[in-house]
Amino acid sequence: LDAARVEGERAYALDRAHVFHSWSAQEQITPMTILASEGSYVWDGAGNRMLDFSSQLVNTNIGHQHPKVVAAIQDQAAKLCTIAPQYVNDARSEAARLIAERTPGDLNKVFFTNGGADANEHAVRMARLHTGRYKVLSRYRSYHGGTDTAINLTGDPRRWPNDYGNSGVVHFHGPFRYRSQFHSENEQQETERALEHLDQLIRLEGPNSIAAIVLESVPGTAGIMVPPPGYMAGVREICDRYGIVFIADEVMSGFGRTGKWFAIDHFGVVPDLITFAKGVNSGYVPLGGVAISEKIAATFADRPYPGGLTYSGHPLATAAAVATINAMEDERIVENAARIGSEILGPGLRGLADRHPSIGEVRGLGVFWAIELVADRATKEPLAPYGTSSPAMNEVIAACKAGGLLPFANFNRVHAVPPCTVTEAEAREGLAILDTVLDIADAHRNS
Ligand code: PLP
Repeated sequence: LDAARVEGERAYALDRAHVFHSWSAQEQITPMTILASEGSYVWDGAGNRMLDFSSQLVNTNIGHQHPKVVAAIQDQAAKLCTIAPQYVNDARSEAARLIAERTPGDLNKVFFTNGGADANEHAVRMARLHTGRYKVLSRYRSYHGGTDTAINLTGDPRRWPNDYGNSGVVHFHGPFRYRSQFHSENEQQETERALEHLDQLIRLEGPNSIAAIVLESVPGTAGIMVPPPGYMAGVREICDRYGIVFIADEVMSGFGRTGKWFAIDHFGVVPDLITFAKGVNSGYVPLGGVAISEKIAATFADRPYPGGLTYSGHPLATAAAVATINAMEDERIVENAARIGSEILGPGLRGLADRHPSIGEVRGLGVFWAIELVADRATKEPLAPYGTSSPAMNEVIAACKAGGLLPFANFNRVHAVPPCTVTEAEAREGLAILDTVLDIADAHRNS
């Protein structure tokens, strides 16, 4: 343990000297050191075990260090570490088959990328070339990645400093009953009015200028708002009416997270393109991609697709995907996510809401849950304003960590997003820690 501590201290010093961190003011952060992980747990630099209720950035769907995936990476490394994308490779071919067999409808071809943002970049590029149109629509409450087009698709405030006004993206309001833009009184009204708003926006922007609508099937970082019945089918209909490509971003919601292979499967809707990353191989090696419908693939049958990456379909990454998907199937991990959600996490979080008045709403499915913390239940005033944190939220997050729980937090929300492999006992352990921590949130309510 002492050797590990020394190693951790050296890593920390080198990090502070040389590593430039994402999304951060470099001198304002004290990053946690993690040197080991297994299953649903990680160990910090001091050797403390923590329950990973974040799945890191909601990507370790199969848990940490799954032995079958680790072995597959090792085997592939011994066999063939890298090969350029123009050559056929068995790991890539098999990963594409396993993915295409799980995507809905005729999404039978896969273009591999290095992660989620570039998957969205390529999906938009395909849609623009397929339609000959430029504009793209996406939700304000969304996150689609950190690269140029993806960050402009993104609605959350991380877009603002990256928006030079020429992205071609137009944002709209999606359905979100708890903070409805549409003054709806029930889910049906929310669906109808959100669809009417989208339809009107298209008519005002010019239907013939719009290449694609990009939607997270269930928005993740933006708050895990499960679309109400009829909404996704309505978006499909609108896309068909105007010849717009429907891109479902399943980067966070895909590969078991919601208790189905893809979140869009809950709605019986087939999009034209699905973007994925994260859970496809749990991020053991960077991988993302676009699953492509026959119609859009046909656009590039006799005309070159103008895009590519040195590491498209990298053997280590796709071998990890093959092992991940097979293990998820063999060990019924998607079914586990569904069961934990409906039997433990959902009821457990709703139970917390009964005891803690700081919880404004609990929502989610599978192992994909958000609790929305409010200073006042009646006004729904969030415990941190949109786009920022607050001393109260910082205290809540610090208390989670001190209590042995690694949370995923965004603005006024704490998300419960453990691996899809989480056991009943681990889910209960996380709920118990949250129960204690939420006393702090309760104490910060307006008096
Ligand atoms: N899309 C969604 C829905 C995401 O949640 C993310 C990452 O959190 C991305 C895209 C971007 O993926 P990456 O960070 O792999 O580029």
